Parts: sequence; C-alpha cells; structure tokens
Amino acid sequence: MRTLLLSKCLVVRCWAAARLPAWLMGLVALSLLGAAPAQALQVVATLPTLAALAREVAGPHAKVETLLGPRQDPHYADARPNLVLSLNRADLLLVNGLELEVGWLPGLVRQSRNPRIQTGTQGYFDASTAVQRLQVVGKVDRAMGDIHPGGNPHFAWDPRAGAAIAEGVARSMAGLDPAHAADYQRNGAALAARLRAIAAEEAKRFMALPESSRRIVAYHDSLVYLLDWLALKQVGTVEPRPGIPPDPAQLAKIVGIVRATQAKVLAQEEYYPRSTSDQVAKITGARLLILPAGPKYLEGQRYEDFVRGLAQDLYGAVSGK
Ligand SMILES: [Zn+2]
Repeated sequence: MRTLLLSKCLVVRCWAAARLPAWLMGLVALSLLGAAPAQALQVVATLPTLAALAREVAGPHAKVETLLGPRQDPHYADARPNLVLSLNRADLLLVNGLELEVGWLPGLVRQSRNPRIQTGTQGYFDASTAVQRLQVVGKVDRAMGDIHPGGNPHFAWDPRAGAAIAEGVARSMAGLDPAHAADYQRNGAALAARLRAIAAEEAKRFMALPESSRRIVAYHDSLVYLLDWLALKQVGTVEPRPGIPPDPAQLAKIVGIVRATQAKVLAQEEYYPRSTSDQVAKITGARLLILPAGPKYLEGQRYEDFVRGLAQDLYGAVSGK
C-alpha cells in the first residue's frame, strides 16, 4: 500500500519534470519558494496529549495529527500503513520518549524514509527531555517488569509537564518556521502560564482534603505524575509489576492493601482490563474510577479541559462526591 502510493508520487513528479519546459519549471520552483512560508507546518504527535498541546501552540500555522487516540495503549500500537504515510509528510514529530513508544515507533519512522524527523534532527522533539522525571532508576533487569530506566514515561497528564512541553514545542516550531516564531513563543508561554495556574489551583484543593482520603490504587504504575501533582498517594498497583497482568495471588494482595490503607479509590486507564479491579472494588467497597488517557483530540478537546476533567473526576472519587 505504502510502496504503491510512494511510487505513484514518484511517477507524477517524473512526468512533470519531463513534460514542462525549463523556464516553466523555473517559475514553478519560484512560486513554490514564495509559497513556502505561508504553508502550514505538518506536525505529527504520537499521543493525543502532545497533539493537543501542539495545536494550541501552533494556532493556524500548523496542521497537527496524532498517531494514537486516547483509548489506545501507547505501549503497543499496530504499525498501520496510514501511520507511515503521516510520518512521511511530517516536518515535526513529537514523541513522549523514555521508551514509551519503543515497541512500535522506531520501525515506523524508519519506514517513513523522512529525513526531517529522524532522531537528533530539528524535526524530532522528545517531550521527556523537557519535563522533570520521576522514578529514574538507572539500571534495570527484566525481572522488574516493563520498567524504563530513564524515568517513568507517563508524565503527559501532569499540567506542570504539559507547560514545559508547550514551551519546548514552541521552541521547535519557531526553529522550523522562523516567520511565525513570535506567534509560537507567545502561544507557548501563554499556554504554559495557564497550565501552571491550573496545576497550583487544583493541588491546593486536593491538599485541603484529609490525608486518609488521598490514598489510591492504580492499575499500572502510570499515575505517578498525576498523583504527585494532586498530592495523592499510590498505595499499590493491580499489576504486580509494570506490564505483568495480575493473578489470583495479586488480587488477594491488593484486597489486603485496600483494607489496610482504607484506600477508597482504584483508578485506571480505559484500555486496561477491568476484571481484577472490579473484583477488588466489589470485595472492599472501594470505587473503580476509569480515567481517559488523553484528550479527545479529534473532537477538539483542549489539553487544559482534559487535565481539569481528570482533577474533577479524581476529586469527586476521593472526596466521596
Ligand atoms: Zn508504562
């Protein structure tokens, strides 16, 4: 499919070069040059969180796509040909980094044969380089499960990380499209300021809750940044180790932890299996909260509204409202 489309493009280009007289080709080249600054940047993000941030920073100057939706587990993705096509056209690729996409993205980027977005180029932005990382462990072995030695990669739902990413994306866009650099910088700074304000306001609201109602069980070890932002405490995970599904022994262990800590809430992303969490909730009376893993980007949801929604859902659950 991809090869077919690419070779079709090549054929069209060869045809144009063969048929047009040299002077006309010159005109075409000139008009393309003239049109370049007005042409929108093609931005591709791996995750809807990054895409939503980029859309705010870019305003009208870029077309921003996301490879995955909020209901897809970013650890795994099908290497569909349409993803390669998106990458083939991109001027800027935004990745989460810290090996979150290591299972599926490198192959797609290679297949895209797009020199503009390869690692280390100006068109490659790794969001993890902009944020403050948690759980940096240095060395890991397989027995620890799916652990990322450079730090926990699930920072995208902390608006403080979102603010730092917005500023980094603005710098990248300004470098690639200097004609609109001032717009990117202004949008990035304004978005970052709004996100830091939301972060502070929500953290204050949560900190006013008694410590006893701020205990949470997560499914995967993916909520650490979210919990850190909202002064919540993770008392256990349903997965015994990251990426390892729970067995009956783990179910018993989590039931024990929920009882001992009096945690009132289990929280997990939509794409993880619910059966064990449901059983824990049923046995202990704790509430299972299903969190969206990203903004509904295709429906136009903004990152700010997404993080406010997360805080609202969590506040409602832990405060028993
Ligand atoms: Zn993970």
